[in-house]
Amino acid sequence: GIPVITVDGPGGSGKGTVTQMLARKLGYHLLDSGALYRLTALAAMRHGVDLDDEAALTREAQDLNVAFEPTPPGEPARVLLDGVDVTRAIRTEECGDNASRVAVIQSVRDALLQRQRDFRVLPGLVADGRDMGTVVFPDAPVKLFLTASAEERAQRRHRQLLDSGVSVSIDDLLEDIRARDDRDMNRSSAPLKPAGDAQVIDSTGLSIEEVLERALAAASR
Ligand code: C5P
Repeated sequence: GIPVITVDGPGGSGKGTVTQMLARKLGYHLLDSGALYRLTALAAMRHGVDLDDEAALTREAQDLNVAFEPTPPGEPARVLLDGVDVTRAIRTEECGDNASRVAVIQSVRDALLQRQRDFRVLPGLVADGRDMGTVVFPDAPVKLFLTASAEERAQRRHRQLLDSGVSVSIDDLLEDIRARDDRDMNRSSAPLKPAGDAQVIDSTGLSIEEVLERALAAASR
């Protein structure tokens, strides 16, 4: 089959960076599956769909008019929704929070399944998400699961936001992260957990270089 490396874990665990680095190093394509949930949430918001209306949200996921503009291997893609550039709009806390709400709906997940599998083309794929190793690519030969403490992830997010000129209290971020973890891990549809055959890397207290080193070692085992 076409090679695929899955990189799952909670937000802020470093999986985005690891995914990009692996894709660039191997010349593989990249799937940011979280972007699809963020796009579904954003499409619902922009189309005036109620976030409690499961049937309407499922239609938004099915009909998602999205284009990932081709970029060099390993580069984050420019994202267009209905032809409009939403690369930044899907990254807000609000959109991430709404994404995790639509992601609990099984029919939304089903609607996005084939779209995700379609990214698996030659020469190979690195797939970033929550259920890449458990549901979307259960046959992946290499599965990584990245974790980090909630406190460390809040601090990373805080620095990231400061770099882009946004100041939010660490306590508020920590509260957001805990709420989203809770929703992701305790939902009945594809709860966040490592696949039985995943290699777990805890990045708490590690520099990004150290995380990358471990991920590369794991990927080549
Ligand atoms: O990774 P990111 O923060 O972009 O994901 C946003 C939300 O989408 C997550 O909090 C999670 O609830 C959901 N998600 C998911 N399954 C995936 C990727 C993301 O449920 N494979």
